[in-house]
Amino acid sequence: MTERREFISNSLQDVKSRIASAAQLAGRDIAEITLIAVTKTYPVSDVQILRDLGEGNFGENRTEEGAVKSLEVPGIWHYQGQVQSRKLREIASWANVIHSLDQISHIEKLNRICEELDKKISVFIQLSLDGAPDRGGVVEQELAELADVVATSSALELKGLMCVPPVEYEHQLAFTEIAQIHQRFISRFPSAKSLSAGMSSDFEIAIAHGATHIRIGSQILGSRTYHP
Ligand SMILES: *Cc1c(COP(=O)(O)O)cnc(C)c1O
Repeated sequence: MTERREFISNSLQDVKSRIASAAQLAGRDIAEITLIAVTKTYPVSDVQILRDLGEGNFGENRTEEGAVKSLEVPGIWHYQGQVQSRKLREIASWANVIHSLDQISHIEKLNRICEELDKKISVFIQLSLDGAPDRGGVVEQELAELADVVATSSALELKGLMCVPPVEYEHQLAFTEIAQIHQRFISRFPSAKSLSAGMSSDFEIAIAHGATHIRIGSQILGSRTYHP
């Protein structure tokens, strides 16, 4: 085993056992939690190692990286970076799941592209707890309007909500609020059962509050030298 493979194997096992403990503590079935290995900024050789170790869900923030890596490593590929209209066609060419939709015009355009490509994409709508524009997402009051558009888009499947809590928020409070908003959202969109929340620093709290998709990068692959 190469040194890199051993490093990734160990940290992956550690993360997985922490996920299992958090699920057990919350009385949840581990089968309802999907681990997405966030491979942004890491080389495709790392993705291959993860694949060899049995992982099948990979996340990227930049479409250029996702396009290249997904060609080399089969899997379920997730896009979680901020969406720009002019990048949608490229994102749609490789992503199976998009976590970060927050504009009606993007949802409509994505659906048109997917119809052309004869492809279905699963989507999360990104929730913003504080409405700050730089992090992306929409506040709770705007969610339904976007979800209605997804629901009538033939090539898109509404999975649920995604959220990255503002850094200054206390973790427990943030995830309690996210869970409450998600419950209200499900009562209107019953199929939107998934909750994409939780990263390296907070995935156990996210699992305690019902996260179904956790997106973990640095805790598996080591700290990144730059942030895209
Ligand atoms: C980078 C990123 C992650 C993974 O972050 P880590 O802290 O490395 O686990 C998850 N979600 C989003 C939206 C990201 O940008």
